[in-house]
Amino acid sequence: MSLTDHLVARIRATGPITIADYMAECLLHPTFGYYTTRDPFGAKGDFTTAPEISQMFGELIGLALARSWLDQGAPARFTLAELGPGRGTLMADVLRATARVPGFDKAGLHLVEASPTLRARQRQALAAHSVRWLDTVDELPEAPLFLIANEFFDALPIRQFQRAAQGWSERQIGLDGDRLTPGLGAPGPQPALARRLGDTGEGEIVELCPAAPAIVAQIARRIAQHGGAALLIDYGNWRSRGDTLQAVRDHRFARILDTPGQSDLTAHVAFEPLALAARAAGAAHSRMTSQGTFLERLGITARAQALAARGGDAVAAAHRRLTHPDEMGNLFQVLGLFPPGAPCPAGLEP
Ligand code: SAH
Repeated sequence: MSLTDHLVARIRATGPITIADYMAECLLHPTFGYYTTRDPFGAKGDFTTAPEISQMFGELIGLALARSWLDQGAPARFTLAELGPGRGTLMADVLRATARVPGFDKAGLHLVEASPTLRARQRQALAAHSVRWLDTVDELPEAPLFLIANEFFDALPIRQFQRAAQGWSERQIGLDGDRLTPGLGAPGPQPALARRLGDTGEGEIVELCPAAPAIVAQIARRIAQHGGAALLIDYGNWRSRGDTLQAVRDHRFARILDTPGQSDLTAHVAFEPLALAARAAGAAHSRMTSQGTFLERLGITARAQALAARGGDAVAAAHRRLTHPDEMGNLFQVLGLFPPGAPCPAGLEP
């Protein structure tokens, strides 16, 4: 039995599945899922992420969160949380950089992680700390919440819709004999895409990530009620436009339907639906800001110079990779959430 066999049997039994169903099976199937069964990061893995490129990323994010915590009166009881912490590198860098902020080390640490394999990696990376793992954001404590999510939302399943003359047709995955093959559902209305009828034409693809606004609402409500701040960092744009689903294996693009469960599947994050969900839940949000601008405002150049002076050869290259517009600087965007009336998180503008 392979994941392909399982998918073929599922489609044969109940009909074509959505792209979101396919992504969910490929990424998180308990025995064959991409994240459930492996540690995909680093040079030997399939892809790398900002915290794996340099410690500077997590250090600056840690200091930005600690700044917001101080701005809000340094509440004694509070949560420090991360969504999809990967290898735990980012949180380890956050905790090291903030260790000298008195009282910030009293945070209740919570990690939302679906993969048992990656939970084990995180346990190693954070062995010196007391950590609670959660399955979903719903379980986060009712307390001031300081939260980071880097490349989490891009891993959430998306649905894809093609604009039809009347409404939208959903892209599906069906069967051609024993092979997985793309298809298109019957056109119909799609209330969640009502605001996109005005800026798309027939044949255009728009993506919808059903889980994302619900997750943001949970975070934003806690921040509005109890205080806190969230930094949501991902590659994407304000609005979804076109097909951005991609498969990556061994640092190269792969075909979406080939070898399910063995390549990483991601889609660009649309930030407008996240901002709308945050506002509806009572929180304020920053402008969407490029990662390059955000890190420069937080002082990455000075930090890189200090590290380079201590003999870090790779520091200049890492600085460039994280901030340059031709590298991750413009592709990745940051959205900050904060309580109405409180200062916007450092590096961002209201
Ligand atoms: N933030 C890390 C890892 C990004 S990869 C970094 O920057 O290096 C995506 C992470 O989200 C992985 O840890 C993956 O296991 C986790 N993940 C994916 N879907 C999830 C879900 N639905 N619930 C919880 N965690 C999820």
